[in-house]
Amino acid sequence: TEERFRLAAQNVSDLIYEWVIEDDTLLWFGNVEKALGYSSGEIPYNIEAWVKLIHPEDVLQLADAVEHHRNSTEPIHYEYRVKRKDGSWRIWSDNGTPVLDENGRPYKWIGSCTDITERKHAEAELKKTEEKYRDIFENAIEGIFQSTFEGKILTVNPAFAQILGFTSLEELNKTYTNLREQLWVEPEKRDEFLLVLVEQGIVKNFESKFYKKNGKIIDVLFNARVVKDEKGQLLYFEGNLKDITERKQAEEFRIAKEAAEAATRAKSEFIANMSHEIRTPLNAVLGFSELLTPLVTESKQKSYLESIQTAGKSLLTLINDILDLSKIEAGMMEIRYEPVNLRMIFNEIEQIFKLKISQKYLSFSTKIEKDLPLALILDETRLRQILLNLVGNAVKFTEKGYINVSARKKNKENDRTNVDLVIAVEDTGIGIPEMDQMNIFDSFSQHHSQIDKEYGGSGLGLSITKRLVEMMNGKISLNSEFGKGSLFEITLYDVKISSGGIYQKEEKILDINNLSFEPATVLIVDDVESNRTFIKELLTEMKLNVLEAANGQNALLIAEESKPAIIIMDIRMPVMDGFEATERLKSNLCTKDIPVIALSASSKITERDKMIKLGFDGYLSKPVRIYNLINELTHFLKFYQKSKPKEEKKLIEKLDAENIVQIKELTDILQNTMMPEWEKIHGVMDTSVVENFAVRIKSLGKDHNVEIFNVYAKDLLHHVQTFDIANIEIALSKFPEIVKILVDLKEKYDE
Ligand code: ADP
Repeated sequence: TEERFRLAAQNVSDLIYEWVIEDDTLLWFGNVEKALGYSSGEIPYNIEAWVKLIHPEDVLQLADAVEHHRNSTEPIHYEYRVKRKDGSWRIWSDNGTPVLDENGRPYKWIGSCTDITERKHAEAELKKTEEKYRDIFENAIEGIFQSTFEGKILTVNPAFAQILGFTSLEELNKTYTNLREQLWVEPEKRDEFLLVLVEQGIVKNFESKFYKKNGKIIDVLFNARVVKDEKGQLLYFEGNLKDITERKQAEEFRIAKEAAEAATRAKSEFIANMSHEIRTPLNAVLGFSELLTPLVTESKQKSYLESIQTAGKSLLTLINDILDLSKIEAGMMEIRYEPVNLRMIFNEIEQIFKLKISQKYLSFSTKIEKDLPLALILDETRLRQILLNLVGNAVKFTEKGYINVSARKKNKENDRTNVDLVIAVEDTGIGIPEMDQMNIFDSFSQHHSQIDKEYGGSGLGLSITKRLVEMMNGKISLNSEFGKGSLFEITLYDVKISSGGIYQKEEKILDINNLSFEPATVLIVDDVESNRTFIKELLTEMKLNVLEAANGQNALLIAEESKPAIIIMDIRMPVMDGFEATERLKSNLCTKDIPVIALSASSKITERDKMIKLGFDGYLSKPVRIYNLINELTHFLKFYQKSKPKEEKKLIEKLDAENIVQIKELTDILQNTMMPEWEKIHGVMDTSVVENFAVRIKSLGKDHNVEIFNVYAKDLLHHVQTFDIANIEIALSKFPEIVKILVDLKEKYDE
């Protein structure tokens, strides 16, 4: 039996031991050599030797066990670490049973030891994984839950409770005794959810509304799946839950916003259409009342007629303004950036208001600070519109004193690519009371102390101006004192400077063949006569007055005496060179403001910077090219650009009385109504009145088959729409000429 037992023990992995208490002998059965890695002679044979192999941390426990063994009759179970010969630790599970003597006392113990290292490691791994998942469960942002089909919540993570406004599952369970009624805002939704869940085993992205603890309703999105036992019986369901209230609100907000935008667009479209519809009959009202003008002689009737016309015109302005405003509001107004020459725009503005300014005996000045680059990337049309509004107001509300329009840059000292541009319009007019300054930029707002009737206007100009400025990344400010005057200042931030220096880019915006300077005197200083003559001829042709000097000293005398608008100064000259002459000019109070352009033989790119540093205001390289010369002068002299006349010339030559329908009627209208109207609008720049004028010319062209009128009106309308005042002026100034040609034609035809 013993032999059999030994063999059997040898072949199981467990070890069997027998400990005889009295003589403290320990007997092992089974492959203890293999389990511990010792040879048979080294196997511990008593408790003391055995304890040496136990992990120090576990020894106490084992010592306890040994004491216990001596007297206890209860089977025992211990786990401890045992050191193998190779130094590695194994975990053993020890189950011992006492064998009792006739007195019922244990005299020996028999037990078995199992190596449970692998199992223990696997358990530890499992525990780790469990902890990991528990961590995820505990810390997830999403709510995680398990629930019975009857609506009892089994488990939830903190996030789930939190989403519903609870601190724990217990609290949740205590509060919600009937989930269908207490949690679900729409109980029928829960029925629908359960139906799908049971039928399909899974529900994805289910949206619903839940009550929170405090009664608030939240939007939730959740996923769930059923859990079954092996037999396929439904046990419970589990899933995750997200609070999507904010997302839903954002979505609702977006939808509402889109709807509102669509409504605004529709409104603006409606206004645009309506304005158009109003304009058509209005044109008839204005047109016919003008036709009536020469026919009405009785003074009362005449004044009625004038009232009709005045009212009609202000209605037209109002409609145009409303149209602009609704375009801006509907986001239909686009800002188009291009290189813009500020000097040119300032010139135009001055041109437009010239007549009114002189009628009111106001002084008017424009000033562009020297260090402000002239070619800036801006929206030319909108900038003109802004200035037209501001300067128009200044002219309208000023009875005496001055109006100043100026441009300068703000900070950004050394930035060569960007400037903050400040444009200011200052007047000494009626001013705006402080209480009205806040809302003066609102639509339809005019200050109350102003006698409205006296000035007219729609109260939309500043509101449009403000929005345009904001669209160009700017702001507008007002500084005004009632009775003293107003200062409107616009600041446009981060305005790009036309790249590659202003001089290259300007080629695009300057058409020198159609450019006119205002009368001005230019002093040319050069010791070589042929150089002077060349420039002189060019400039005289451009209607500029030219003075000459053969050296610096001579130039100083002439400059002081005749104060030229600009000086073109050669560098190397006998008697006094250009450097010295310029230095003296600049230190003389009398001449220091006259711009001096250096004429240098060097054409290095850096030459310009060098010359500017040396005190010159501009630079031209020799030999002088016409384009460069004119281009340079446009930075300092007032000028305007003419439109192309060629096409018109051709059309005029082609005019033939035979082809014109009812030429007599046409010339009558032209002479009796259009010309008086032209006299009224010419020089008083009100774009909507000019627009009306152009529309009427266009319809005359159509009715009487006069192509030149079509082209003319189209041009004029284009200029009006782009607020291109200089060209409006030019186009208007041509009108009498065309009328005269047609009248002559008619007379010849009559003969
Ligand atoms: P409008 O000039 O057509 O009435 P605006 O929006 O351009 O409309 O101007 C609104 C009001 O602001 C004017 O009616 C006037 O009361 C006041 N205002 C604007 N500019 C000036 C100014 N330069 N001086 C005095 N008041 C001004």
